[in-house]
Amino acid sequence: MKSVLQDTKECYICRCTSCLEDHHIFFGTSNRKRSEKRGLKVWLCGNHHRNSPDAVHKNRQSDLRLKEMAQAYYEQNIGTRQQFIIEFGKSYL
Ligand SMILES: [Zn+2]
Ligand SMILES: [Zn+2]
Repeated sequence: MKSVLQDTKECYICRCTSCLEDHHIFFGTSNRKRSEKRGLKVWLCGNHHRNSPDAVHKNRQSDLRLKEMAQAYYEQNIGTRQQFIIEFGKSYL
């Protein structure tokens, strides 16, 4: 499944196009599969993915910002908040 959140292959945060990595917004064993199935993933450069202090895998705020955005997309396009909680375990909004 391709991303439903962006059309262009560029870092979702800084829009650079080098060193891109696939990031599943809800990660962990089962959530990663569900993110894949729903297309709830984005491209991130190495810095915004893992390497810099505000990378999504290092910084809770950066992580939450993407999760809130993805849940909002879900509620507008896929299903209800209740369904989201059943699928991903909790609400971030
Ligand atoms: Zn970036
Ligand atoms: Zn990731």
